[in-house]
Amino acid sequence: MNTVAARISELGGTLVRVLIVEDEKGLAESMRRGLVGEGFVVDVVHDGVSGVWAASEFSYDVAILDIMLPGMNGYDVLKDIRARSIWTPVIMLTAKDGEYDQTDAFDLGADDYLTKPFSFKVLVARLRALIRRGAPERPNKITVGTLILDPARRTVTRRGDLIKLTAREFSLLTFLMRNAGSVVGKFDILNNVWDAYEGSENVVEVYIGYLRKKIDTPYGLRTLNTVRGMGYRLDPDTDVAESVEGAPGSFDKLGS
Ligand code: CA
Repeated sequence: MNTVAARISELGGTLVRVLIVEDEKGLAESMRRGLVGEGFVVDVVHDGVSGVWAASEFSYDVAILDIMLPGMNGYDVLKDIRARSIWTPVIMLTAKDGEYDQTDAFDLGADDYLTKPFSFKVLVARLRALIRRGAPERPNKITVGTLILDPARRTVTRRGDLIKLTAREFSLLTFLMRNAGSVVGKFDILNNVWDAYEGSENVVEVYIGYLRKKIDTPYGLRTLNTVRGMGYRLDPDTDVAESVEGAPGSFDKLGS
């Protein structure tokens, strides 16, 4: 059995198709040659728009996506293909001193990342791991009253309006919605939504304010409540009127 056939049978007897989206042509070509040598079927494109097109037109088992790309960056490519319900596992290539980091990559739905420069052996090992895992099962929508968050499409709607959130606001709202009806402390929020050393409790307050302006204020609602001395609680809008805990006193800002 030759190498290619051996690799194919190792992966379950089917051809494994890989999409590379990388504008550094030398790097793209060396990855392509190496992966073909490993028995993969490889397509290469050099910009983001072509990446979205290829990912939409063809079916890949895994995609390697560079972040800094001309025209449309890797994050926008990822958002765009996920919005089209394409769940091909994506490994992102990040630069060490880049504008973005791996946290952003995961926030935006990448399945893995590699920091440049990386070894080819590591790339192959990560690709195989992703292929074995297959396209991840996408989480279901989360609903709290009329607020609906779709983790897979990364969209939030209320009463049918699409609400635009930043990546951080989206992560914060996801955490609050998963804990809807319960009080979550600022420290819990920091631990779950921010990296260990990058946030302070003030930043949580600021972001809670941003979220209120987007999910509550335009609808005349107060579902994102401050629970004095304890933290925050997201309530369904339909229940707010009857809720004893939703009495005005509990809306006071912490520390005020
Ligand atoms: Ca690049």
